[in-house]
Amino acid sequence: MSAALPGAGAAVLRPAPVLGIVVPCYNEEEVLPELARRLDEILDGLIAEGRIAPSSHVTFVDDGSRDRTWALIASFHAQSPRWRGVKLSRNRGHQNALMAGLSSAGGDAVISVDADLQDDPAAIGRMVDAYREGAEIVFGVRSARRTDTAFKRLTAQGYYRFLAALGVEIVHDHADYRLLSRRALDALHRYRESNLFLRALIPQLGFKTAVVTYERSSRFAGESKYPLRRMLSLAFEGVTSFSTRPLRLIMVLGSVVSVISVLLGIWALLAELVFHVTVPGWASTVVPIYFICGLQTFCLGVVGEYVGKIYLEAKQRPRFLIEEELAPAEERRAG
Ligand code: UDP
Ligand code: MG
Repeated sequence: MSAALPGAGAAVLRPAPVLGIVVPCYNEEEVLPELARRLDEILDGLIAEGRIAPSSHVTFVDDGSRDRTWALIASFHAQSPRWRGVKLSRNRGHQNALMAGLSSAGGDAVISVDADLQDDPAAIGRMVDAYREGAEIVFGVRSARRTDTAFKRLTAQGYYRFLAALGVEIVHDHADYRLLSRRALDALHRYRESNLFLRALIPQLGFKTAVVTYERSSRFAGESKYPLRRMLSLAFEGVTSFSTRPLRLIMVLGSVVSVISVLLGIWALLAELVFHVTVPGWASTVVPIYFICGLQTFCLGVVGEYVGKIYLEAKQRPRFLIEEELAPAEERRAG
């Protein structure tokens, strides 16, 4: 136990930041009013305590919703400049929507939150504190996954292990709930890739990081916008955008198979010439052919996946297009 000396250890805090909160929304009309109510409460509290500046604000990104999401965002904006909105020209997916929000949010620090209240807003204050103590990136990490299905828990676990084995750096049980300082954001904007997987990209930035744990609750209303198909595609992105190890594995696999086939050939010769054993049935010939054909096709597929990525990156298409923006005029992005 240490009797704290006055002033000792109490490092100089950064001044209270203008905080921007970014919320990607895809058909979230059912949750937005409750989310806005909760965020309002939290921002008011933090401002009253002097932990964030009064001009802190929330930017909702409408990712091409087909319900009343944009109308709701516009009505919030009409009530107070605290609420801002960015409407994308069409659905571009969670990662791109997030990126759109991160580029248009103002402030000294920006926190990204899912719309569905699964990311407990109560952790926002602790993230801000970590920022004021000097962290440039604060990861929100789930302390419990009780609300996820056993299937999701198990696959997520296996996937993190797999990524780690491939050499992809990722923070366990961290989704997209995090704080980025202006400095980290500027660094992030220098990464121009269109195949986005922020979870693996952000740890690459470096800088001083901190972790804040929170309890992940279940969706407040509505259903997940991440069906299994999209989940798999995001998982795939994580591997092929951050690791070329699968390409190396293919080479190793190919060599191993070749060595085995040479050994098999030698054995077949010996069997015929020395031991005079008749060649066993066709299965032993046909099975390896199928096996190797399958293997080759698979390997080609993996290589093709990377070639496809190069194709997409080479085009340098914009990650999103903004149709409308609700923000103070002086802060509106050009283009
Ligand atoms: N989202 C989005 N665009 C999409 C899909 C989802 O902006 O194409 C948003 C969604 O509104 C939510 C967040 O991304 O705020 C996470 O989605 P969801 O909660 O459905 O995913 P889950 O938590 O089930 O993985
Ligand atoms: Mg969710």
